[in-house]
This record gives sequence, C-alpha cells and structure tokens, in this order.
Amino acid sequence: MSDCIFCDIVNHEMDSDIIYEDDKVVAFRDVEPQAPVHILIVPKKHIPTTLDLTEKNNELIGHIYQVAGKLAEEEEIDEEGFRVVNNCNEAGGQTVFHLHFHLLGGRSLQWPPG
Ligand code: IMP
Repeated sequence: MSDCIFCDIVNHEMDSDIIYEDDKVVAFRDVEPQAPVHILIVPKKHIPTTLDLTEKNNELIGHIYQVAGKLAEEEEIDEEGFRVVNNCNEAGGQTVFHLHFHLLGGRSLQWPPG
C-alpha cells in the first residue's frame, strides 16, 4: 500500500470495480456515484494534478479521451450524451491528488455544475 489510493488501485493493492485496463490507464467505478454511470479514468503513472502535465503527456491525455468515448459506448450513454470532468485543486473540487477524469452519464446533467 502507498499513500495514494489511486496508485493502490492501479497496482491492484486495493479493492475496486475495475472495468478497463491497458498499459497506460485503469478505469473503475466511483464508490460514490453522482450519476447512473460514474467511472474514473486514471493514468497508471502518478501525476498529482492537471498542473503537473507536460508536453510529454499529450499522448496520454488523448488516449484517456479515447478510452472515455469507448467506455461511453459500452455503457450505452454515448447517444444521449455524457460528460468528462477533471477537477483541479481544492476550489476545483479535487479530493484525490492522482490525476483522474470522471466519466458521467445516464441522466440529464446540469450546467453550470455546482
Ligand atoms: P475528485 O473529487 O475529483 O478528486 O474525485 C475523486 C473521486 O474518487 C470521488 O468521486 C470519490 O468518490 C472517488 N473515490 C475515492 N476513493 C475511491 C475508491 O477507493 N474507489 C473508487 N472511487 C473512489
């Protein structure tokens, strides 16, 4: 176990509902779902926040969005619509400091978010 819960999930050292994994990312269901479909897409590499991204990570971020689209199709929320969200730092709502993207769908989402 490490001091990062998402590293523990990535390393299969903590229970989680993993629905997708490849050499770059893991995707698992959020423990406190805010919508009928609420999946977290997490890079395997520990990157704390969006502010820590560099040009070297451009391919990774493109890959994460491709995975989000594929999972949206698999979860059958693609046609009705869905949202991909990244929260950064405290006022942005970030609580886990290992970069992640929320894939939300299955209900009508409000805008602006709270
Ligand atoms: P953030 O607030 O954008 O950092 O999102 C963190 C998300 O991780 C929240 O939606 C939490 O519900 C979720 N979360 C925290 N711990 C776990 C876990 O162990 N498994 C799955 N989701 C988790």
